[in-house]
Amino acid sequence: MSDQAGKTISENSAEPLINLLGQTEEDLQNFFSGLGEKPFRARQVMQWIHQRNARQFDEMTDLSKSLRTELHRLATVELPEVISEQRSADGTVKWLFESGGGQAVETVFIPEPGRGTLCISSQVGCALDCAFCATGAQGFNRNLKVAEIVGQVTHANRHLPLRPNGEPAITNVVFMGMGEPLANFRNVLSALNILLSDYAYGLSRRRVTVSTSGIVPQIEKLGDACNVSLAVSLHAPNDELRDRLVPINRLHPIADLLDASWRYAAKRANRFITFEYVMLRDVNDTIEHADQLAGLLRNRPAKVNLIPFNPFAGNDYERSRSETIERFQNRLRHHGVVSTTRRTRGDDIDAACGQLAGKVRDRVRVRLGDKRQRIATA
Ligand code: SAH
Ligand code: SF4
Repeated sequence: MSDQAGKTISENSAEPLINLLGQTEEDLQNFFSGLGEKPFRARQVMQWIHQRNARQFDEMTDLSKSLRTELHRLATVELPEVISEQRSADGTVKWLFESGGGQAVETVFIPEPGRGTLCISSQVGCALDCAFCATGAQGFNRNLKVAEIVGQVTHANRHLPLRPNGEPAITNVVFMGMGEPLANFRNVLSALNILLSDYAYGLSRRRVTVSTSGIVPQIEKLGDACNVSLAVSLHAPNDELRDRLVPINRLHPIADLLDASWRYAAKRANRFITFEYVMLRDVNDTIEHADQLAGLLRNRPAKVNLIPFNPFAGNDYERSRSETIERFQNRLRHHGVVSTTRRTRGDDIDAACGQLAGKVRDRVRVRLGDKRQRIATA
């Protein structure tokens, strides 16, 4: 292309191109001021990328030709590479994105009447090793970059049809895919910044939820930096059981986690914390557990979201019976604790909570298998 004609190989190899997809407004303002440009260029470029779906700088017609040439030389807009897209019978869509080294992360879109929720990943694998989680079983590989986190939203937004009212399909974003978002704090914070920006996705804080297994100091930091909705993966009403199910509890026990949660809620009036509770048969689903849980959450700004356990290969836990889940929920209600049961969506394409690593592990296993075979036959 003529714009790129002046680019020399040495220019290309000296400086890696900067991916504008993962830059916040402030990052872009700094970038443009370094080029002697006005700060408002940041907003223009964000709108082109996130709202007007530009794929090339040449489409950004309100930038001067010379600035576009400069952008070609220095920058790129690179979305994560899609490995596959699957659509479930219930309308759920799951994408698998390449994340290098034979690994992949997953993103799931869940359409519901009145809203469309995108569930995104923040890490490749997870180090926290919760006993019932496929991502945990996979182990930790690496943190996703800002562009890889935001890119899941950008890709989905570009590939989902508008809602009947003409608005974008994605009304809510939840960090409930693979990884522990608060263990990738800096990148998640920048990604949140872009999701909330009026020049990108313009989502309200209420409609963006970070789910954490309970990294207490980071909960405090998130509350100060960006008070989005918070979901806490509690899963057990006492430390003895939680130590086993969610090992980070040994470092940050329930009392500390709840203190941090109430402080987080207090930073905004009328803000509830959602407590996720995976229903594991005969493990955490008795009436006594419901009573203990209610004891922790009663008269607090708390809602409980019961998640029927989603089984996966190599894990021995079982899902609680539906009567047990109903009884548990009624008991919480009896104590005045608001609770809902999450409907399992997309399980025919392994897109339900905690199933997200299945395909990845299989892929990795296949590759390792190939390698072993090659070594064996070499
Ligand atoms: N790491 C974060 C967010 C990702 S997990 C966290 O733990 O909160 C999103 C939710 O799915 C968490 O509540 C997690 O505990 C739950 N989950 C994990 N494995 C599951 C499984 N097999 N069945 C049902 N829910 C599961
Ligand atoms: Fe990590 Fe969350 Fe899975 Fe625990 S439940 S291993 S924190 S992804």
